[in-house]
Amino acid sequence: MDHFELREGVLHAEQVPLPAIADAVGTPVYVYSAATIRRHAEVMKAAVGGCGAVDALVAYAVKANPNAAVLRLLAGCGLGADVVSIGEYRRARAAGIAPDRIVFSGVGKEAEEMAEALVGGLLQFNVESLEEARMLSSVAAVQGCTAPIGFRINPDVEAGTHAKITTGTADNKFGIPAAEASAAYAEAAQLPGLKLQGITVHIGSQLVSLDPLEAAFRRLGQLLATLREQGHPLTIADLGGGLGVPHGSGQPEPASPEAYAAMVRRVTADWNARLLFEPGRLIVGNAGVLLTRVVRVKPGAKHPWLIVDAAMNDLMRPALYDAFHDLQAVQPTGQRAVVNVVGPVCESGDTFAMARETDAVAPGDLLIFRTAGAYGATMSSGYNSRPLTPEVLVEGDRWALVRRRVDVDALAQVEVPTWQSREDVTE
Ligand SMILES: *Cc1c(COP(=O)(O)O)cnc(C)c1O
Repeated sequence: MDHFELREGVLHAEQVPLPAIADAVGTPVYVYSAATIRRHAEVMKAAVGGCGAVDALVAYAVKANPNAAVLRLLAGCGLGADVVSIGEYRRARAAGIAPDRIVFSGVGKEAEEMAEALVGGLLQFNVESLEEARMLSSVAAVQGCTAPIGFRINPDVEAGTHAKITTGTADNKFGIPAAEASAAYAEAAQLPGLKLQGITVHIGSQLVSLDPLEAAFRRLGQLLATLREQGHPLTIADLGGGLGVPHGSGQPEPASPEAYAAMVRRVTADWNARLLFEPGRLIVGNAGVLLTRVVRVKPGAKHPWLIVDAAMNDLMRPALYDAFHDLQAVQPTGQRAVVNVVGPVCESGDTFAMARETDAVAPGDLLIFRTAGAYGATMSSGYNSRPLTPEVLVEGDRWALVRRRVDVDALAQVEVPTWQSREDVTE
């Protein structure tokens, strides 16, 4: 459920009419609903509440939407953070998320990032290779401390989602193969700077069926038992994120958080471990829309081209993953039309929808792309020298600009050359 609804013929975000935001900020603009974000956080917390041996932790995957205002909201809901760079770590801390609620994932962590997170504090590094474990151990030794870790296991399970958001098969770069886990833990246990406390898995994103997740968790449970028999006193099992969200318009309906939690309870009943969850999309996906205006309608061979002022640089998911975003007119007339929806960027991939039946709209009209709260603004770029998309947070009858439009003049200021002579750099 979300809070983007028609009221007297006009789409609102909570109690704020979207045309008011478009008039004040311009388009394209991302609009988030605070009530929806809070609701999703509470639904997830309630669903997984009783799972595991002690208090389960929901660590929001910051990469889904790292906006400072969004993070502050989620910190207020008691969520932790799953970060994949030191930049995300800093954002999480700045938003008030306590160090003991932060896990650090990612295959390419660098020594400086490790050191900063160690000094600042965190619950666990999710380590993706022995090579990384060795580097982390030496970084910790230099700091005179030990780094709490869990290895990320690649369970070699097909997630049944788009290839570019599948992460848990042998062909993906993520984690260590399940068959090598025992050897990895054995070697890591000998490293002076590490404390082996957990085990983790994350197989992909926008998962609709629970079956691949269950298969991965069963694999993880077997490994957990084996590793404990081998003398590793592991207490934390991090089950990752990946649960999909409904996209409307007849798209596949993913399992509910409640059904997911019921499966987790069943599979983990005898694990005797603290469970961590890393949802991203589930929390923010349907809590945001991309508000855009129709620039013009151009005749096409089969269907007219609806050219909107949002483009692939603002919302990359259709170009990157063939993602589906439901479309809706902000002031629908009741008329319908079949159109191709594209942006102004000079790429054929700048296509949001082909042959889509949707509300009929004319140049100047406003539209929304739904389910744009996750992997939307955070992936935006300045391609074609377009501004970085602004973001607005609505709360009841108020709204705030939470990211300004960063235009080409502002971007040009970081392009002023600072020349160095060869001698300067080789000294
Ligand atoms: C991206 C990511 C998540 C979140 O995935 P969602 O599909 O947004 O829930 C969780 N854990 C890790 C390690 C990730 O890379």
